[in-house]
Amino acid sequence: MHKEDTYRSTLEAGEWLFHKADAGDCAFLIESGMLEVCDEANGKLVAQLGPGEFIGEMSLLDGLPRSASVRALLPSRLRLITREMLAEKLTDSDPMLRMLLKMVLRRFRNTMADTGHDYRAEEVTDVDRVEVTRRLEMEYELELALERNELELYYQPIVNLQNMTTAGFESLIRWHSPTRGFVSPSVFIPIAEDSSLIVRIGRWVLQEACAAACRFGVAHRQLGLPMPLPFVGVNVSGRQLSTTRLHGDVMSAIKNAGIEAHRIKLEVTETQMMECLDPALEVLELCRSAGVRVAVDDFGTGYSSLSYLQKIPVDTLKVDQSFVKQMMKDAGSRKILRAIAAMAKGVGMDVVGEGIEQPEQASYLYAMGVAQGQGFLFSKAVPEAQAVQLLGHCFGDLMPTLAA
Ligand code: C2E
Ligand code: MG
Ligand code: MG
Repeated sequence: MHKEDTYRSTLEAGEWLFHKADAGDCAFLIESGMLEVCDEANGKLVAQLGPGEFIGEMSLLDGLPRSASVRALLPSRLRLITREMLAEKLTDSDPMLRMLLKMVLRRFRNTMADTGHDYRAEEVTDVDRVEVTRRLEMEYELELALERNELELYYQPIVNLQNMTTAGFESLIRWHSPTRGFVSPSVFIPIAEDSSLIVRIGRWVLQEACAAACRFGVAHRQLGLPMPLPFVGVNVSGRQLSTTRLHGDVMSAIKNAGIEAHRIKLEVTETQMMECLDPALEVLELCRSAGVRVAVDDFGTGYSSLSYLQKIPVDTLKVDQSFVKQMMKDAGSRKILRAIAAMAKGVGMDVVGEGIEQPEQASYLYAMGVAQGQGFLFSKAVPEAQAVQLLGHCFGDLMPTLAA
């Protein structure tokens, strides 16, 4: 094959373009000439393709190796279509279309496997198929749920451990599917993250959380509460961060709700933060310079170094619940936690303890310099109407030692 330029190649008559089982990372558009698709094992001709037709598109779309061999019958000129070019086009296409494409391809590949045409027949296990189908179905239902407004945000209070009142809420997405019942976000968020669905869900979450922040503010003022207006934490996934539109999405949600930017706190897990490339960190920095706050979620699970903490643009560390649990058994983790709290204070970050289930955990954390806590001890995530009732509520009676 002779390359004319980055995107054009020519083939002599009789020259092979690719062989069955080759890795397939690009497709071709035939500009002139004629190619034949064949099964080299038995010399059978599968198809002849001419100008205006695509070849090798299946591997490009589903990432699997070539399922047949292709050679030129006449001198031919081809235009290259790379995976990056396709990804760019697909990202902005209709999600339903993307879903259909994936399903059709999967069925097509399966049919070939069933009829013994696919060299991967033995590799495509039933487990693979069941898993792929399960994920595709859930992705499809989730998409419908988003369109039909079946997703909901619940709010879990984050408590000021000094005066035991609600400082803010973390918004947590809930999906009560009419067919599946309650589906945990730890099940469906990773599936949404595998597709661009997370970007649309994320946008919805931002709009909804900002609107709720506004309503919490109204209720807070009506109650004449002396403490600052409650903030609302919004979980943001790595995929949302890598699309630079996040900054625009955040700003428009804040503007639509008519709230001050500091009322919103974006939560990014430590692991996803560590995977962030500089442009993603810049997006967070951009949000922060507009006044939005940023928290590292599940801190202590990602093995980041303390020096790394200085590099990332954050206001809050949310110490992971596993750490909070371990703390009660292990003096070593208490020491580390105390050091983290001191270090955070030194660089002006605040610390939230997650997963507090027992009063002793809250007391310990507070004694170590952790100013805020969140957990089932105070409340699980509840619908907005119930969350409003927690504004101004004092959780002090849960804490015999502190209340005394
Ligand atoms: P996360 O952001 O770390 O949220 C905290 C999780 O811990 C929540 O689970 C919460 O219900 C649970 N939790 C809170 N207090 C306690 C406690 O005392 N004990 C125990 N055992 N668990 C506690 P949930 O709601 O199931 O969410 C799971 C994860 O799903 C979240 O972890 C977050 O990573 C993700 N998620 C939830 N909502 C969203 C969302 O709107 N967008 C994105 N991208 N991710 C979300
Ligand atoms: Mg979170
Ligand atoms: Mg967390």
